Amino acid sequence: MILTDTHTHLYSEAFDMDRDQMIERALEAGISRFYLPAIDSSYTESMYALERKYPNHVFLMTGLHPTHVKHDFKVELAHVKENLEQRKFVAIGEIGIDLYWDKTSLRQQQEAFCFQIQLAKQYKLPIVIHCRDAFEEVFEILEAEKSDDLFGIFHCFTGTLAQAHRAISCNMKLGIGGVVTFKNGKIDQFLSKIDLSHIVLETDAPYLSPVPHRGKRNESAYLLNVLNKVAVIYGMDKQDIAEITTNNALDIFKT
Ligand SMILES: [Zn+2]
Repeated sequence: MILTDTHTHLYSEAFDMDRDQMIERALEAGISRFYLPAIDSSYTESMYALERKYPNHVFLMTGLHPTHVKHDFKVELAHVKENLEQRKFVAIGEIGIDLYWDKTSLRQQQEAFCFQIQLAKQYKLPIVIHCRDAFEEVFEILEAEKSDDLFGIFHCFTGTLAQAHRAISCNMKLGIGGVVTFKNGKIDQFLSKIDLSHIVLETDAPYLSPVPHRGKRNESAYLLNVLNKVAVIYGMDKQDIAEITTNNALDIFKT
């Protein structure tokens, strides 16, 4: 079984004490492909180090996370642009809008999101969207920018069925993670109505641990808990879900 974690922050400080063991546990569990979303320039070097250490397993994105859009965001965006000029990345992410932590930076977040969408189009790369308390704001931009060369993943999708269809119509796949295992997570209620061709699996480690690890540090090996739940929802074999969602990820990232 080949499983793919399409969103995991393996370089996070949360793994400083046991990073290699944590990655080993995931590899043993069958998760052999890890896609690493970027946050800001302070993590770039540690992401490169992980890629050097696990060249067959670790795939890097570049981008500026919406909660890290601060006064210096233009410098950060220049760093993203420079990265793209220098080497290969599999996607631009995670990018988007987050109004949960800070509403005052909406304008700057919108500007950063639009700028990075243009880069994605220019480099023909997928985008990985982070959206929190900002569905309308994200869709306003996505729908305005909609085109054949804009595609990617709506990471940590937690919206309604209608919003799921809206994301899919913008060429986005839905990143399904720990929330699908939560009692009050809601997406488990309608997920089976969405064709599996639109779904990819993710952990968002070290955040959003699936049940039964909810509330504790998340890690990529827990993708199995997400897989189990998705298999139950679709009434399908875990093996088949793993294969289909891995192929969906390959389809997007081309790597
Ligand atoms: Zn993330």
